[in-house]
Parts: sequence; structure tokens; C-alpha cells
Amino acid sequence: MRYRNEESVMPRHTLDELSRADTHHAIEIADRIWWVGYPQEDDIFQCHVYLIEQGDQSVLIDPGSVLTFRHMLRKIEEVIPFSHIRYFVCHHEDPDITGALPLIDQLISRDDAVLVTHWRTKMLVKHFGLRLLPFWLVEEHDWKLTLEDRTVEFVFTPYAHFPGAICTFDPVSRVLFSSDIFGGLTPEFALIARDESYFEAMRPFHEHYMPSRDILGYALRAIERHPIRIIAPQHGSIIPEHLVSPMINKLKTLDCGLYLIARGDTDIRKLSQLNQTLRDITQTLLIYRDFRDIASSLLDITRRMLPVESMEFYARLDENRVLYLLPENRYRGIEAEPPPPVARILDLDRKQWSEMNMAGVAEFMLAHDDDQVPTLMLPLFSPGKGTAQAVTVVKLAEMVAANEDLRQIIEQMSVPLQVAVEREMIYRQLDMERQRIYEQSIRDPLTGLFTRLYMQEVVQRLCDIQDRSSSNSPVSTPCHLGPGCLCNIQNHSPGSCGVAMLMLDIDHFKQVNDTYGHNQGDVMLRRVAAEILDTVRNSDIAVRLGGEEFAIFAVGDAVAGIVSFAERLRTRIAMIRFEEPMAERAVTVSIGVAVRQSPETLLDLIQRADIALYEAKNSGRNRVCRAVESI
Ligand code: GH3
Ligand code: MG
Ligand code: MG
Repeated sequence: MRYRNEESVMPRHTLDELSRADTHHAIEIADRIWWVGYPQEDDIFQCHVYLIEQGDQSVLIDPGSVLTFRHMLRKIEEVIPFSHIRYFVCHHEDPDITGALPLIDQLISRDDAVLVTHWRTKMLVKHFGLRLLPFWLVEEHDWKLTLEDRTVEFVFTPYAHFPGAICTFDPVSRVLFSSDIFGGLTPEFALIARDESYFEAMRPFHEHYMPSRDILGYALRAIERHPIRIIAPQHGSIIPEHLVSPMINKLKTLDCGLYLIARGDTDIRKLSQLNQTLRDITQTLLIYRDFRDIASSLLDITRRMLPVESMEFYARLDENRVLYLLPENRYRGIEAEPPPPVARILDLDRKQWSEMNMAGVAEFMLAHDDDQVPTLMLPLFSPGKGTAQAVTVVKLAEMVAANEDLRQIIEQMSVPLQVAVEREMIYRQLDMERQRIYEQSIRDPLTGLFTRLYMQEVVQRLCDIQDRSSSNSPVSTPCHLGPGCLCNIQNHSPGSCGVAMLMLDIDHFKQVNDTYGHNQGDVMLRRVAAEILDTVRNSDIAVRLGGEEFAIFAVGDAVAGIVSFAERLRTRIAMIRFEEPMAERAVTVSIGVAVRQSPETLLDLIQRADIALYEAKNSGRNRVCRAVESI
């Protein structure tokens, strides 16, 4: 079967057709450029051979291995007679490229055939003892080879994987024959790379095979000077036009020289995964500021390498308190008693830790916890204090080996994680302090009721809401609470938008202080406040105005029944009984009630309630008086 089609112009085949092309035959990937490789079964490291068809001046690129030779020969013959090949290009010296040379040497039937390569490759390949095939060195020919209808250029990519490595660029088809660069390890053979995920096939190969990012970067810059349309690598898949730039750009950021972290391990896929994990850990700590994001991300990343069930943290908040941060509460943290294995580690300095962890590895402890769960304990040492101020507890589904990979993951995580935990603890301390100050400013320490300061802020807001609702809607049928109440708005029951105030004052309180002392006076204040809190609704705002004066603000429906509520409260307070020495002493309160009518000011409302309270006092105490309506 022939794929040749003299009529058509480039591209001869759509990407889709190329992807589905029968790899038992030569496949034309661009104008007179043929793939004549052979997909070996169970080989993730496929070797591609390419043919530039140029009549009897044709070129074979990277002739390949002895394993694939006969298949390649058959495919070449589908396109041209083998004897039409004059140039045999070897991009480097590896046996998967040059292994077939002695077989080719025996087949050569013309005396102008040459082996096109770099002098460093020649130094090695000459040991094949080729009889007929002389060398044609690229550096002696201005890095160009002129053919029938095109002049191909050679790109020097030294040390990317071999000192004499080169690539070939065809300016007519704009195919770059890239040799090892852009090669991938593909478990499933695919002639054409489908999408950007091909990079993942390239990643382990390049990370391991290319010695450093600088050297690969040099090669990529040399390659980029050419207007590439297709990349035809020796391994993996052919890279079509839309993926050329993305692949080059991704390669530019790749960490190479993976063997530097290998320390004996040569499984490059595993190394690549480890490298990716280490990089992701660093990225996480660079990208995220919020401890919650950092912890969640680290959990996801470590799960790729380890059977992690959960990752939790115990972190010292201050001398007495330890926070327990776990995924269930989105790492918000709750105060907790650290379990004994954690408590044993917290506050140790490095010396004490290594003495304690004699049996373990220096940086972490791998053991079963008290519940027999395999657990990884990682102390996080504070750079300032030098002691373990936090412990990361990683619970595992099964025991793992305390090997070099694990050590590297831990090493990568620990210092930045320490910084993240420490920062989180500082935020938490600030938060708690802020909360404490706020609580102090809004709560009266003796009674637990709100302070006058808080009242100003909150009740003012309630008044504003009432004013807004009252100005926005037409009042058709004012209720008994007056025109300021918006009970006429649909779905509002009468009085639902009102604000009402009770002002309470304990009767003859001075006498209590004088008779029983100030402490007993405080007991009475606390007891009355407790009764108030017990009687009000959740939506009411109970305030200690000062001394033995209290206020209660009621909103919504409660406003309608405010007077009877005041009466109920008064009765309940009058029923309070004290222990000795005040067992004989009853407590009563006088109450002034005022209902706000928009747009009355808060000050005016308080004043009216105060006047009503004064009236209650004057008319005999232990009673409720309602203020006259505001005008
Ligand atoms: P009336 O029935 O007119 O309200 O008389 P009264 O004695 O309750 O009122 P007066 O305002 O004369 O006395 C209030 C007393 O409350 C005076 C003050 O020493 C006392 N007092 C104020 N704050 C506190 C406190 O926090 N604890 C105690 N034990 N007493 C307080
Ligand atoms: Mg009083
Ligand atoms: Mg008073």
C-alpha cells in the first residue's frame, strides 16, 4: 500500500487522518516527508525513523536499531528504492539510532552515500568499522545540506544529552527532526500527540535525560530560531503545529537533571513524580497565604505519593493553649489537649528531639500511634525559639518505608510549613485578642449584659432600619403604635417594624449596699440581670446602662406587647429570693416604657423612657409606667 499522492499539497493528511493512519506502512507526515518507523510492542520508548524523499538524493534520518531494521527497510521500499538514499543522518550516537548502520553498510550499492553527523558522533560510530559509508560532517558544511528541492539546516544542541547532539530542520516542510528533544515515553503508541497532555509523556524523559535546564534552554533557543510547523522526535509522538509553542514553552520551565536527586534510584517515572511533588509543595507555599489553603493543598499533593488518610496539626498558641487544626473544621482550629505522643514532642529542642527519636529518622517519626494507626509525626521547629512549636500528624492507611523519597518530601515541607503554622498562630492570637477586646467593650463584666457603648451602635442601627422602612412605604392604616410603625407593609404583622425601650431601675438599691455591703449589692445586680436575660427574647437587646439601671430594647412583634412584657418582668423580679444574708430582702424595680415613633432620635427615646421611669418611682415604685407618645 502506498500513501503517496502526487496531486495534493501540504498538509497531505489532516491530523485526524494521520492519527488513524496504518502504522504498518510508511506514512507521509508532510510534503515528501515520511515516517518509516516501527512501533515495537511493549515498548514505551518507540524509535522513529524519517525519510526525506528527494529522488536518488533521498535522506534517511536516524536509521534506527537492529530490532526495527527490517520493518523500516520494507517501509522505505514502499516509497522509494533503498538505493535512492544517499544521506544517512545520525543525530547522535545511541544504538537505537545507529545500531542499524552496519546492516546499512552492507546494503549500500552506491559510492556517493554518506553518513551525515557531527564529529563527536563520528568518534564513536567509527567503531562500527563501516566499510563503505564515509562520514560527512555537518560542521564542515556550514551546517547545511542542499538537496534536490530544499536545503536542510542542522541545529547544534550540544550536551542536551550528548556533546555532539544535533537536530535537522527542513525549511520547506518546516519539520524539525528533533532527535531526543521532545521525545516522550508513551505507554500507548500514538503517532501524533493529541493535546497538551503529551507534555506529561515528555516530562519524565526530559527531567531525567537532559542534564540541566540551562543546557536544555540553550538547545531550545537554538531550535526556536527556526519557524517550526511540525516536530518529529525520535521517541514518543509527532507534535503538530498547534502544540509546537505550548510544548516548547513548557519545556523551558522544566526542572532537568533529575538524577541529581536520585541518590541511587533510577526509576525515572518515580523520580519524575517525586520531583513534581516536591515542586508542587514549593508552589503551594509560594502561592497560598491562607493556612487553610496550604494545608488542603499539601494534603492533596502528599496523597499522590503516600497513603495519607488525614493531615492534622497541633500548634502552640501560647504557654497554656494548643490549637488542633484538622480538615473537618477546615483547619480553623479548636483549643485541645494534645494527645500524649504529640505532647511528648511539643516544646522539645532539636537535641532533645533527636535523642527521643533515636530509632527514627532525624526529621520525622514514623510509628503506630496509641490507637495503632500508622502515623507520621513531623515536629515543626520555630526558628525564633528553636523548639517544636507545632507537630504535623499524618495518619496513614498503611505503614510506609522511611525511605529517601519520604525524607525529601518531609524536608521540602517542613520549613515552609513551620512558617505557615507560625504565621497562622500569630493571626489567631491577634484575632483572639481582638475578639477579647471587642467582647470587653460590648459586655458588662459584672452582669454579662451589653454595655451602653454597644447599645448606641446597635440600637441606632435598628432605628435607622425603622426610619428607612417608614419612609419607603405609604402608610395607609397606622396601627396603635403610631405612624412610624410599618405594620401595614405586606406580610408584616402589626408592630413588626417598631422599636421599643424599657428602662429599669432597682428600687432603694443604695440601702442594699448600705445594709449588706457592696458585695451583696453586686449579688443583687447579677441576679436581676440574670432574670432579665432569662425573660427577654433572643432578638431583644438587654443593656446595663450603669449602676443599677438597665435598658431593654425590643424590636418587631414584641413591640405590640411591650407593656405587658414589662409587667411580667417586674413581677418575676419581685419574686426573686436571695440567700443569707439577704434572705429577708426582696428586690423590686420601677420600669419606664417608651415606643419609638419614626423619626424620633435615640436620645429622645431614652429621655421619654427616663421620664416614664421617674413617674414610676414617684408614684410609689415597683411599677411600670408608659411614656407619652412623641410628637
Ligand atoms: P431609687 O429607688 O430612687 O432608685 O433609689 P436607689 O437607692 O436605688 O438609687 P440611687 O441612685 O440613690 O443609688 C444607686 C446606688 O447604686 C448608688 C451606687 O453606690 C450604687 N451602685 C452603682 N453601681 C454599683 C455597682 O456596680 N455595685 C454596687 N454594689 N453598687 C452600685
Ligand atoms: Mg435605684
Ligand atoms: Mg438609679
